[in-house]
Amino acid sequence: MQKIYHNAKFILSCPSIKNAPLDDGIEVIFAGRSNAGKSSCINALTMQKKLAKVSKTPGRTQHLVFFDLGNGRKLVDLPGYGFAKVPIAVKNRWNDDMGEYFANRESLKGAVLLMDIRHPLKDFDKLMLNWCDKSDINTHILLTKSDKLKKNQKNQALFTVQQYLKDNYIDATMSVSLFSSLKKEGIETLHSKLNIMFKWDEC
Ligand code: GDP
Repeated sequence: MQKIYHNAKFILSCPSIKNAPLDDGIEVIFAGRSNAGKSSCINALTMQKKLAKVSKTPGRTQHLVFFDLGNGRKLVDLPGYGFAKVPIAVKNRWNDDMGEYFANRESLKGAVLLMDIRHPLKDFDKLMLNWCDKSDINTHILLTKSDKLKKNQKNQALFTVQQYLKDNYIDATMSVSLFSSLKKEGIETLHSKLNIMFKWDEC
């Protein structure tokens, strides 16, 4: 099953949802603040060292990047959203664009939200969680760079986020796990969460 992800192919990169590929099949988004470890995660998942590089190309950091997994399944790398230095007008446009994407994209069925385990649940993470909840999509949080913390600190962070989900999203399908691209921790869990979101058994 992992092979499906290893065969991911770049489709297109676009500045706005208006230029996105046809809204069909199943899409799962990957989202996280800049530096959360999203590119490293996509590269680890697909075992392709340079796949997520296109999202880092200057001028394209605010682009949505679509990858094809076959059978109408797409993985979408959403623009990093920790852009403190971005002008307010750009931020507002991004908000509108993302709001529209979440509200209207029929093929959007799942989300993987990446948060640096040392700084989880920032404002933008909470915004994403609210959008995922409103759209009623299957959502999984990866607490990234877990290798940076000791075991008890990792478990504490995991517990904090689990508790936050329990307190705020009682009915939602949301879960959280530890992840390290460096140590390959949590890749199997990510695979099994994605396998459910993509409904591979229906292919
Ligand atoms: P992005 O901006 O979210 O795409 O983040 P990157 O994947 O580019 O990672 C940002 C920084 O964190 C880089 O310096 C990576 O080497 C580092 N990084 C990413 N994943 C890990 C990890 O699992 N462990 C550690 N220790 N560092 C990581």
